[in-house]
Amino acid sequence: MKFGPSSIFASVLLLITAAAAQEKSRKSHDGSYLPPAAIAALQDIRKENIETHVRFLSHDLLEGRGTGTRGGDIAAQYIAAQFALYGLKPAGDNGTYLQKVPLVGITPGADTRFSLVASADSPGSPAPMDLRMLEDYVVYDQTQQTASDIDAPIVFVGYGIEAPEYSWDDYKGVDVKGKVLLMLVNQPSNDPNLFHGKALTYYGRWTYKYEEAARRGAVGAILIHKTEMASYGWPVVRNSNSDEKAYPQLDGSPRLKAAAWIQLEIARKLASSAGLDLDKMMADAQSRDFRPVQLPVRLSAHITSKVRPFESNNVIAVLPGVGALKDEGVMYTAHYDHLGIRPGMPGDNIYNGAMDNATGCGILLEVARAYSEARQKPRRSVFFASVTAEEQSLLGSEYLGKHPPIPAEKISLDLNYDNVRPLGSPEEVEVSGAERTTFFPFVQRAAEDFRFRIRPAAHPEAGYYYRSDHFSLARVGIPAFSINEGIKFKGHDDAWGLAQDDDFLHHHYHQPSDEYHPGWDWTSDAAMARFGFALGWQAANQSRLIEWKKGDEFDRARH
Ligand SMILES: [Zn+2]
Repeated sequence: MKFGPSSIFASVLLLITAAAAQEKSRKSHDGSYLPPAAIAALQDIRKENIETHVRFLSHDLLEGRGTGTRGGDIAAQYIAAQFALYGLKPAGDNGTYLQKVPLVGITPGADTRFSLVASADSPGSPAPMDLRMLEDYVVYDQTQQTASDIDAPIVFVGYGIEAPEYSWDDYKGVDVKGKVLLMLVNQPSNDPNLFHGKALTYYGRWTYKYEEAARRGAVGAILIHKTEMASYGWPVVRNSNSDEKAYPQLDGSPRLKAAAWIQLEIARKLASSAGLDLDKMMADAQSRDFRPVQLPVRLSAHITSKVRPFESNNVIAVLPGVGALKDEGVMYTAHYDHLGIRPGMPGDNIYNGAMDNATGCGILLEVARAYSEARQKPRRSVFFASVTAEEQSLLGSEYLGKHPPIPAEKISLDLNYDNVRPLGSPEEVEVSGAERTTFFPFVQRAAEDFRFRIRPAAHPEAGYYYRSDHFSLARVGIPAFSINEGIKFKGHDDAWGLAQDDDFLHHHYHQPSDEYHPGWDWTSDAAMARFGFALGWQAANQSRLIEWKKGDEFDRARH
């Protein structure tokens, strides 16, 4: 027998079977429930298979699966080979499993100069202030030139947000073309009725701020880094902004010559050199009445970059649907890339990314195998996409969202897996974002059947919803969320779960020590795979496509 009677699958099986039997007498809300063939397929999901994939994908031989590196490409080929072995059809370019993602690597040059120069008319004409790269600021030139020059006035635009649905506009129609915008990260937070209270919306993310500045024709945007606002310290900003970073190849969309961050203290000096008080400026930015403030200071910059165009790949397979709904689909995603190798670093410099995100790939592959072996096929087509360049700001999934295998409006749901750690028998599941969709009642019911409590997002202010691949699909309107375990595991209390989280975050997250160790308990990964299988099966078979709830920030993109 593959599983002991006490294993989670056995209890889940009983629950689901019981639920299915009950379903016959109960009025159905969503039209269907798992048929015996789906239950059998779900039962056959094996934790040993997930572990095997993780062990291989996080092996030193894969060199940390860096985007655009040999190790990353081997991971993609491995995943494509599994899809082929399962008998799934290719859904990439030209009848292959690979979807080419054209990217450009940018490395800031050491001779980059950034200085703040008082405008000619400012009193006393203070001396220019030269900033130290990495210590005071970080910058990337998104225009993909080897050298760019900037000499432009700096305008403080508060949070740099224009959000009609919250009647918020920091720009107030002021023309910022050709200017450099200084702004705060995050979103106004002193009014709980504004935005989503403490929960970060996309308007609070730094990616939005750069995009909005570029859309308005600014040449640069400088974000002021304040730890409690960004939810990570300056060392994180510095470390993730000193090496090569990948960008989408130029496609006609506007780009900034300077996409920069500066330390809070530097912003303070900048304000005071202009006779202003940064704390007051930040307080003013909390108000709807805020208006942009042009500072009597210019940014004078010479930015050099090493520019390296390259290609990476998403890996996409499909199990074609059967019948009238086969042109519609459901999608599973998990990124396979990680951070590669840091050549100059002494000691172990391979970022194996066992948890982040070989685990998600292992789950995606095992779910794909379960579907491919199910005796009955779902009505909608089921896509499995292992994406690249997540660690480079979700670039692989962004490309997938813009170039989906079928039109985005025909994709009912995306279920994403990212960093599902093998911690034992989960008693909770995290599905943040699911509550924004019309699918939520089913998610709640499935969670009940699996005996999972739904755990609300632990840190809504950190905006994790905007930090993994499902977000790229939400942006093009596809209802999407990640599935992960919560905090509470069988035989442990909440404190234990929180301590596991804390230990991972501080000692292993994005570090070479995120490695595979034998002896971990993969029950949790198998449980998340089964839960996701049940959700995806339902989404693939129910008569209606899933929608965002009315008024949700992504609903507009859907219609
Ligand atoms: Zn990840």
